[in-house]
Amino acid sequence: MKEIIKNLQTEISEVLSQVEADMKLSSKEFFELQGNYISKTGKITALLRELGKVPKEERAELGKEINALKVWAENQFARVEKKIKEAELAKRYESEKIDITIKGKEPKIGALHPVTHIKNEIIGIFEGLGFDVFEGPEIEDDYHNFTALNVPADHPARDMQDTFFINEKLLLRTQTSPGQIRVMENRKPPIKVLVPGRVFRSDDDATHSAMFHQMEGLVVDKGLTVCDLYGVLNKLALELFGENRKTRLRPNFFPFTEPSVELDVSCAMCGGDGCKLCKGTGWIEVLGGGMVHPKVLKNGGVDPEVYTGLAFGVGMDRIAMLKYGIPNIKLLFENDARMLEQFK
Ligand SMILES: [Zn+2]
Repeated sequence: MKEIIKNLQTEISEVLSQVEADMKLSSKEFFELQGNYISKTGKITALLRELGKVPKEERAELGKEINALKVWAENQFARVEKKIKEAELAKRYESEKIDITIKGKEPKIGALHPVTHIKNEIIGIFEGLGFDVFEGPEIEDDYHNFTALNVPADHPARDMQDTFFINEKLLLRTQTSPGQIRVMENRKPPIKVLVPGRVFRSDDDATHSAMFHQMEGLVVDKGLTVCDLYGVLNKLALELFGENRKTRLRPNFFPFTEPSVELDVSCAMCGGDGCKLCKGTGWIEVLGGGMVHPKVLKNGGVDPEVYTGLAFGVGMDRIAMLKYGIPNIKLLFENDARMLEQFK
C-alpha cells in the first residue's frame, strides 16, 4: 500500500512536470486531468476506499499518508492551475492588446467648395447691409424665367439651344433672376435680397458648363438711382477682388434692367497692361446689373411710379475661377478631392 501511495505521488509529480513543461493544456483540460486524481472517481479517493481492506493496525498510519498525499496533490494541482490561468490571461491580453502608439487612421475632413466660399463671401458682404437670402425653385415656369422679366417670346434667350425645357410651360431656370419676381410678388418694398442658386443652360466649353451658379441681388425702394447701383456693384467687386483694384462701368443690355451696365475690374495678372487673362484689354468683366425695368417692377406687383429698383447678377463660378486661378470650369464640378483639398 505504501508503495502504491509513493508511486501515485511520483505519477502526479511527473504528470504535472510534463504539463508545466508543455504548457499546452487549457484550464478546462487541466481540470479534467485533475479529476483523474482528486475527485470522487479519482485515484486518491480509490486509495482511501482500499483502506478498508488493510489490516486494522496499519489503517491509521496509511490513512494519514493518503490524506497527506491528497493535501499535497491538491496544492500541486492548484499551483499549476494558477500558472495555466495566468498564461491564458496573458495570452488573451496579448491578443486584445491595443497599441496606443500606433498612428490612427485620420478621418478625411472635407473642405468647402470654392463656389460655396464665393457664395458665403457675397452673403457676408451684404448681410451687414440688411440683405437676406431667398432661394427660388430650380424648375421654373416660363412666366417667371422669361415673360415677367421682360423677355419677349422672340428673344434669343428663349432659343432651344440655350434653355432646357421640360415641357411647354416648365424649364430649368436659366438665371436666378426669376427670384426677383418671386420676392416682389411676396413682399412689400423696401426689399433687399440675395438670390443664390444653380442655373442651367445648354452651354459647354472651358468657361461654360451646362450647370453653373449665380447670385442675384435686388433692392427695391423709393428714390434709388444709378449712383446707388454703382455703389453696390463697386463695393461688391472691391470686396471680392481687393481694394486696390480699379473698376469701370460699361453700358450693356439686359431685357430686365434699364439702363443696364457691366462692371469690370482691372486685371490683377497684368495690372492693366493687357494679357491673355484679360484678352489684352487690361479689364475683366465681373458683374452685370442695372436699374430694374419698370415693366419688371410692375410684373412683380410693385408700382414703378413710386419705387425704383436696382439689380445685379454674379456668376459665382466665374468669380471663383478668377479669384482662385482655376483655368477650366469643369474642375469645379469633377469632385476631384485633390482640387478641393486646396480650399481647406
Ligand atoms: Zn491682364
